[in-house]
Parts: sequence; structure tokens; C-alpha cells
Amino acid sequence: MSYGSRGIVETANGDRFNCQYRRSVGRPVCGDIVTVKDGGTESAVVSTILPRSNEFMRANAQQKKLVIAANLDQVMVVIAPEPAPSRDLVERYLVAVHSLGIEPVLVVNKAEFLEGGAYDQSSSLGRLGEYEELGYRVVQTSCKGSPGTSSLAPELEDKTSILVGQSGVGKSSLVNALLPDLELQTGALSRVTGKGTHTTTTTIMYTLPCSGRLIDSPGVWEYGLWQMEQRDLAAGFRDFAPYDESCRFNDCSHRGEPGCGVRAAAESGLIRNWRYDSYLRLLEQNR
Ligand code: GDP
Ligand code: ZN
Repeated sequence: MSYGSRGIVETANGDRFNCQYRRSVGRPVCGDIVTVKDGGTESAVVSTILPRSNEFMRANAQQKKLVIAANLDQVMVVIAPEPAPSRDLVERYLVAVHSLGIEPVLVVNKAEFLEGGAYDQSSSLGRLGEYEELGYRVVQTSCKGSPGTSSLAPELEDKTSILVGQSGVGKSSLVNALLPDLELQTGALSRVTGKGTHTTTTTIMYTLPCSGRLIDSPGVWEYGLWQMEQRDLAAGFRDFAPYDESCRFNDCSHRGEPGCGVRAAAESGLIRNWRYDSYLRLLEQNR
């Protein structure tokens, strides 16, 4: 956990202490593995940040990358019928997760509302079956009713996972449900920082009862992608992969070039139209 120019470092045996950051070393993020000088004392300083295996990022208002957490095994993308996901929100998250080379899990919280079918069938919520057909894991949860949250815990076992999603989808409620000792954990963190922990503004890593780590990140209103290469954007659409080999141009943007295998596949229904349209919109917004 990082706050200002300090953060909490945990040792291999679980001791936690408060560390100072140095501008020359940089600012660690949740999940970073660091080395510390003068460990254990109030004057402990982070002396190196070890190379990261991956970084989960989002864009700030200027489309610049902001690193939220590092060294993750998977990303849990939480959506809910209320607030409903905006068009392309799930696709933006999927592109971001694929750029890390790890798997996303789609967590649909407040799933008790899906029962009545009172949601937009042409939104991501109406396409859960199609996401599964595309090879994504989809887990439905409810913190208030059926189906409960017990199906989520096994997904998290022995892994470092981050929960991401729009404010209000129920991330804090899920963290509460998954961590019977949440108050103990936040209390312990507060003791080390000497302040209260503000779970809505700070990214925090928790220890799961089933072993594994869970990082809770503050909800964002609209998750945005940073400026990225067209190729990296397309790589986030795994259903395009079988067809881009046959594009005439190596650097085909799949937008309208002659001999585009992806566009041909979309036109003949081999690639779902809504996926292709979403790709075109993300491409347009990313220029
Ligand atoms: P966060 O902003 O993503 O952390 O969302 P919260 O956990 O604060 O939840 C936002 C609101 O949704 C709160 O009023 C919760 O009580 C409510 N909520 C969370 N999970 C569920 C759920 O599964 N079903 C219903 N009906 N409400 C939920
Ligand atoms: Zn193409």
C-alpha cells in the first residue's frame, strides 16, 4: 500500500513496516517487490523496486499511463446491472488485461438482478454467454442474495488478483464477503501508517484466507485506455487472431484496407459484429 511518499512493505514472514520512498528509486505500487535499507526501523527506505512481471494500468485525463498495481496473476473485472456498464467498458478492460499477458475474469455482481431480465440485453450483461464462448471466465456473484459469493473464492486461491471496476458495482462489498478478517487487516494497516486507511482512495493488498492476495483498487467512473499501438489494441480482441494472418498488409488496422482478413471475417459473421464495431470505436478513440 502506498500513500504519499511512504508505503507499507511486508517481509517474507509477514511483518509489515512503514517505509519511506526516494525520488531516485521511484514510487512502488501495490504488488511491487522491493528491497529495503535499514529494515524494521522508522527510517526504513525502499532502495530498489525489482523488475515487474506486469503492470495493470489505466489512463489519466491526458491519456497517459498510470500504473495501479504490479506482478499480478489475474484481473477480476467487476460489472453489475447497476450501475450498468457503459458501451465498450468491458472491451476496454479486456484490451488492458490482454496487454499484460494474463487472464481476465469477468465478475458479474448484483447478479440477483439478472433473474428478472430487467437489463439491456444488448449490453455486456446480455452477452455473458458470448464472453464465455470467447473463452473468458464469467463468475456471477451477489452480496445480497442468490447466487452469493462463494463461487468467487476458488477463483482467487493461490493467486495475486486485483479487483477493478466502476464505483458502485460492489467491489467493497465483495472484499467484505471474501475477507472475514477485513477489519483486522485494515486496523493493522492503520496502526503501521498511523492513520486511517481510506479504502476508496487507496489501492490496498489483502491476504485471503485461502492463501492468495487480493488487491482492491479505488473505483473509477470511466475506465480509459492509454495511447497504445493499433496492434496492441487488436491483440485485446482474441477472436480476431485466427483471421489477421490473412490480412494483405502486415500493419493492417482492420479498418478498411483491401484484403483485410478480420473485416472479411466480421462481414461473413465469423467474428461477432458487436466485437468488430467495438474495436473500431476503441481504435477511433485511441488516435
Ligand atoms: P464499490 O463502489 O464498487 O466498492 O461498491 P460498494 O461495495 O460500496 O457497493 C455499492 C452499493 O451496492 C452499496 O449500496 C451496496 O450495498 C450495494 N451492493 C453491493 N453488492 C450488491 C449485490 O450483490 N446486490 C445488491 N442488490 N446490492 C449490492
Ligand atoms: Zn486487417
